[in-house]
Amino acid sequence: MRLQLPPGVTASQFDAGLNAFRGVVGDDWTLATDLDRDTYADYYAPGDLDEHAPGAAVAPASVEETQAIVRLANEHRIPLWPISRGKNLGYGAAAPRVPGTVVLDMGRMRRILEVNDDLAYCVVEPGVSFFDLYEYLRANNHPLWMSVPGNAWGSVMGNALDHGFGYTPYGFHARNICGMEVVMPTGDVMRTNMGGMEGNHSWHVYPLSFGPSFDQMFTQSNMGIVTKMGYWLQPEPEHSISLSMEAPNEEDIGWIVDTISPMRRNGLIDQNQFVSSSLGRLVLMGQRSDFYDGPGAMPDEVADQIRADHNLGFWAVNIRVYGEEAVNRAKADVIRRAFAEHTDTEFVETAWSRGEEVNTMDPGFGVPTAVPLQMANWTGGRGAHLGFSPIVPATSEHILRQLERSRAVIAAHDVDFYASFTLGERYATNINMLMYDRDDEEQVANIRRLFNALIADARESGYGEYRTHLSWMDPVSDTYDFNDHAQRRMAEAIKDALDPNGIIAPGKQGIWPERYRAQREGS
Ligand code: ADP
Repeated sequence: MRLQLPPGVTASQFDAGLNAFRGVVGDDWTLATDLDRDTYADYYAPGDLDEHAPGAAVAPASVEETQAIVRLANEHRIPLWPISRGKNLGYGAAAPRVPGTVVLDMGRMRRILEVNDDLAYCVVEPGVSFFDLYEYLRANNHPLWMSVPGNAWGSVMGNALDHGFGYTPYGFHARNICGMEVVMPTGDVMRTNMGGMEGNHSWHVYPLSFGPSFDQMFTQSNMGIVTKMGYWLQPEPEHSISLSMEAPNEEDIGWIVDTISPMRRNGLIDQNQFVSSSLGRLVLMGQRSDFYDGPGAMPDEVADQIRADHNLGFWAVNIRVYGEEAVNRAKADVIRRAFAEHTDTEFVETAWSRGEEVNTMDPGFGVPTAVPLQMANWTGGRGAHLGFSPIVPATSEHILRQLERSRAVIAAHDVDFYASFTLGERYATNINMLMYDRDDEEQVANIRRLFNALIADARESGYGEYRTHLSWMDPVSDTYDFNDHAQRRMAEAIKDALDPNGIIAPGKQGIWPERYRAQREGS
């Protein structure tokens, strides 16, 4: 991929900056060939790779090297885009928002610094992958479980910082973060929460600070580069029961949510609950052409027939309870009775006890897997996916309303429907997976039109996305419009104070430093 310079940076300035970086990390870790740029590009890009072309990448091996790079970037005015493992697939992967930005690859810092069995937390560096942590916990017999996202190819830190989630009681990953170390945009180092006191023993156990607390300020953010993160883990339970069901009808999602949601709030179910439409299973069974070869979206009658042929319902419900066996059995009874008020379909029940093998394909066990990535193969060609993901309150009223609207918009654009709802205590994350073939220009253009329409439609009915691809960071940030975007204005005031040269991730999440503000889409 050819070099694009960052806005306002000349070729000689850029070269001088890279040479300065070489002085810190050496030639081997200053990656500036066309091939290197390809490596850090968004290989799921819905459109032209050049839209978010990296200028180069630089990979420090320590906090000190990170500080040195950040100071030099300030001196040479080279913007940096920090990544942990850069597997943010569907959201831009390793690529930066602004073309020419140098990717700051933190993946060489890959140590698991601490695992505390008694208090159930770990401390990780950016490069620690879900697989690294999983293997480490097992190899060293730590009685702790992780929570993993559907595709667990990336890092524990990058996923938590980007508000990823999983399907266990510890599935709200940003909430597991406790106490960070951050290299600030000027090169200074700061520790959040109790870590503000040198040697404080409670850094990774108490999630607040003396005064305002800042952990969440560094998530989905361009305020600093996280170099260490305390992260809570789940103590290994003694026993677990899974209850799964194929619910036949589209409208069943209403009573399903109204049945589960109160149990999430009163604590009977503590798992981050996943309910997914049938395409979620089909994408793992084959390609679209194995089921239907017509143009446009799969017609409803065809989808109904496929479900009948494969014994699938419209929705798959998977509920898991964890803890003491006697308590789990009592909880399972309560859940079964509550569902029996609405359906004759019975749960399939499986029990697990400590010491037994876990089902590695069940996300409720927190074992990392990349199998769900198979969905990118759905369309054939160079497949990819985008997720349209509004947050809705966890009641049937909101969920049915959002479902009806997004389904109509997706159908109007002739795209296959694949939705899931993950239920927290009070909200649901509604992921609408949109699969496309990157080689098919018309498909890509259609997906982009669809994405714009979904954002506008959700905004109109009072819902917003929780996370989005680089190309929609400005449009989504625009929808958070109360009082002339007062929240964004505050974020940008903080950004300007912390990062006067606009060095760290300009444009991330629609937050633009003063120096780059004219780059905001539509400005
Ligand atoms: P993963 O490692 O799971 O693939 P990424 O490395 O792609 O995740 O990170 C996801 C997003 O989180 C990045 O685009 C970046 O904006 C942010 N991010 C990742 N690592 C850091 C970090 N160490 N400090 C600050 N932000 C980060």
